[in-house]
Order: sequence, then structure tokens, then C-alpha cells
Amino acid sequence: MKKIGIMTSGGDAPGMNAAVRSVARRAMSLGIEVCGINYGYAGLVAGDIFPMNRSDVGGIINRGGTKLYSARYPEFAQESGQLKGIEQLKKFGIEALVVVGGDGSYHGALRLTEHGYNAIGLPGTIDNDIPYTDFTIGFDTAVNTVVESIDKIRDTAASHERIFVIEVMGRGAGDIALWAGVASGADEIVVPEREFKVEDIAQDIRNLRSRGKKHTIIVLAEGVMHADEFMQKLKQYGDFDARSTVLGHVQRGGSPTARDRVLASKMGAYAVDLLNEGKGGIAIGIEDNQLTYHNILDLFDSKHKPDLSLYDINKSLAK
Ligand code: ADP
Repeated sequence: MKKIGIMTSGGDAPGMNAAVRSVARRAMSLGIEVCGINYGYAGLVAGDIFPMNRSDVGGIINRGGTKLYSARYPEFAQESGQLKGIEQLKKFGIEALVVVGGDGSYHGALRLTEHGYNAIGLPGTIDNDIPYTDFTIGFDTAVNTVVESIDKIRDTAASHERIFVIEVMGRGAGDIALWAGVASGADEIVVPEREFKVEDIAQDIRNLRSRGKKHTIIVLAEGVMHADEFMQKLKQYGDFDARSTVLGHVQRGGSPTARDRVLASKMGAYAVDLLNEGKGGIAIGIEDNQLTYHNILDLFDSKHKPDLSLYDINKSLAK
């Protein structure tokens, strides 16, 4: 293989730059040329493609966001869009591709492989909602950002003896809420993967109060409902002094943690090795601390499972 392409696609995540760096440097070390593709599939179709050298990926391992930019480009779901992308790949002599993104981006990678251009997906999303990987690139950083924010909110919660409902990201997945909830010592974690009754949570709060704990931190995954809605429901069950906070996009940004940088570096290098062996249409994961890969089609047939033991642990620790 002489030349590969690298792009980031879908929502940005801290560690995407570390992944791009790893892909580029590993390829170069094997004598493979690398092209950077800006703006994901939109840039591919538009031909926003440039040859990369070692210094193009210098000084980015510590930077959040993505230096290759990202974009949503729904037209790539149509065959006409895919064929335009392939024209560009031909024009630039790119034989195979690494795509860092979420499940939407994986669809594009699969289509390219079906058209004869091997593409490999790396899981780049803060949500951790990809099957066949214990962790995605960006998740650890997002969890740490959330924990830092909750630590600060706790100061106010304690000073005013208030209840705080803190909405965190994750799309349909509760991973950020579970990890950040345990790490910040939350009183309640509410996730889409576990049934709950607001009435029971109100009772838990009353129990805590009767034992002298006057403030409450509730970490709510965005996939359940909005924080404000949750707070209004809670207030139906008692005269609570509650506030809601939506952490929002701060969770997507910031310098990646060491863990995310290492994960991205491992996955990026592995993807290049697999492309070099002629593999495509697969997604890289890390399972039980081992790098793995699976056919992208298998990912679409399965559902991501968060570590719900964290939910149970938190229940017993918060009592
Ligand atoms: P993410 O990769 O984070 O899940 P999106 O769902 O927005 O983000 O997908 C990123 C991009 O991947 C889309 O803008 C589009 O260009 C491409 N894509 C998404 N779905 C498909 C599909 N079914 N076929 C081909 N390309 C797709």
C-alpha cells in the first residue's frame, strides 16, 4: 500500500488529534504516504485533501477538537455522494482510509469498503455509545470534565443545602452519567438503561435528609429527559429547593486526558497495520484492555452496553 487517507467525522471528541497523529506517523514509519482530509465526508467529496508530513501532526496530541475539522454531510448516505468521494480518492491516489468518528461515520466507512476502498473506523465520541469497545476516544476526558464541574456545583449545593439535577451528555447512553456519578460521589444517577421512579428518588432524598445529609447531587443522563423536566417532576413529590444545570458543550472540549491520548495512539497505529494487511470494513475497539476489531456490520446488529455495575455500586455507596 502506497497511500492512505485520514479524516475525522461526526461530533468532535478530545483525542481525535492524537488519533490522527498516530495514524499519520505509523503510516510514515512504514513508508506509506498520508493524505489528510478536512471536514469529514464533506471534504472528501469536495476534494479538500492535502498531503501530510510529520510536522502537520506535530503539537496536536495535547489539543482538543480536531485539526482536520469535522462536518455533518448527510448526502454521503446516497450512492451519488459516495461515488463523488471515490472519484476524489482516485484522483489523489488514496488506496485506503481511516475514519475517526461515531456510528454514523462507520456507515460511510462501510460504503467505501463495499466500493473497493478499504476503510477502518476508530471510535471517536465522548458518548462511549459504540458496541464492541469498552471505551471510545474522548470519553475519559468528558468524564473528567464532568467530574470537575460537579465538584464545583457541590460547593453551592452544600452551602445552600440544595438539590442539584445535573444533566450530562451521552445521547442515548448513560456511560458519562454512570462514570461521572460514581467519581463525584453523586447521590443519584439516572440513566436510560435503568428504570426508575421519580417518587422513589424523592423518598431517597427524604431518607438522606432525615439522616442529616441536606444537599443532594443527582446526575441525569440527557437520554432520559431534560434536567428542568426532571426537576419539575421531583418537585411534585415534595417541597424541595432544587436547581437544574445543563453542562452542555463544555463536555466535548478540552485537552485530552493521558488515557484518551494513549487509547487514540494505540488504536491509530493498529488501524494502519490492519489496512496494510488489506483489511477494511471493520471498526477498532478495546475490550478487556486488548485491541480488537469487528466487522462494521456486526456493530450495527448489536447494542452498546454500559457498565451497569456502576449503578449498583453507587446505590449502595450513596445510601
Ligand atoms: P457520528 O459519526 O458521530 O455518529 P453522524 O451520525 O453525523 O456522526 O455521521 C457523520 C457522517 O457520516 C455524516 O455526516 C455522513 O457524512 C456520514 N454518514 C452517516 N450515515 C451514513 C450512511 N448511512 N451512509 C453513508 N454515510 C453516512
